Amino acid sequence: MILDGAAIAQGVKESLRQRAAKLAARAGRKPCLAVVLVGDNPASRTYVQSKIKAAAFVGIEGREVEFPATVGEEELLDAVAALDADSLVDGILVQLPLPAQINPDRVLDVISPAKDVDGFHPQNVASLQLGRHCTVPCTPKGIIRLIDSTGTPIDGKTAVVVGRSNIVGKPLAKLLLDRNATVTIAHSHTQDLASITRQADILVVATGHAGLIDGSMVKPGAIVIDVGITRISPTRLKGDVDFASASQVAAFITPVPGGVGPMTVAMLMENTLECFESRLGL
Ligand code: NDP
Repeated sequence: MILDGAAIAQGVKESLRQRAAKLAARAGRKPCLAVVLVGDNPASRTYVQSKIKAAAFVGIEGREVEFPATVGEEELLDAVAALDADSLVDGILVQLPLPAQINPDRVLDVISPAKDVDGFHPQNVASLQLGRHCTVPCTPKGIIRLIDSTGTPIDGKTAVVVGRSNIVGKPLAKLLLDRNATVTIAHSHTQDLASITRQADILVVATGHAGLIDGSMVKPGAIVIDVGITRISPTRLKGDVDFASASQVAAFITPVPGGVGPMTVAMLMENTLECFESRLGL
């Protein structure tokens, strides 16, 4: 069965829209999400546009703040700090990657945890690891929702996460562990990847290596979540999983595009409402 992330995300956004309207009535204003875009990377611009569009649908004011690729680090830090100090801004997202002259850690550290809708601030990362209340990063949060949409309990399952980035693999492994899966994290030094992925009841692949996983590497009946996005032509995206062969073996599988991507955006909207709620004590 194909896990239709776009349809599930649409349902999430519709319920968030109702929640946002109620919160806005109580607060006397709409929630506001500031999205910072540096440079003219076409993929980043597309992602920012889809976030602003989703915000408008949900009833969140999207404030787009753009800088040229040549912006200096101090200028960007000052601008992000000004957004952080602005009481009318509830969430701040800095679209990654940033140009080479800018240290992303310095920029992300300027966003206070209460406005960190991406869940990338060290305090949110630590809270996730400690099992405390925090903003959960959007992509891993959306992946858990996609798995839950299958109706299959995560508890007791063998989960394999391929990829160990700070934004996808590591936080997702922790979320799966919190749901009592037995979790293995694989990466580029993993030997005999296929023997590990074939054990997975839940297989999540987030490497950026197009077509890395084919059907022979998937356990029959598994849930397969493909996070990877590789642009193979101006109009075609490819995932990390070879959909044609893996879909013959898996019980559930996400397409690329239309799987994890839309859920990531929906979770960003949810995180923005959560920040709005808790900042204003609504
Ligand atoms: P990173 O480049 O930060 O991390 C990639 C990870 O994959 C690393 O841990 C790397 O291992 C591992 N890896 C690379 N090649 C292999 C291999 N051959 N075998 C096993 N492991 C491998 O990427 P991200 O986590 O940021 O993103 C991964 C993919 O997901 C990208 O395509 C990205 O575009 C996409 N993405 C999609 C999102 C969405 O909303 N749909 C959101 C975020 C990302 P090592 O650590 O050893 O280098």
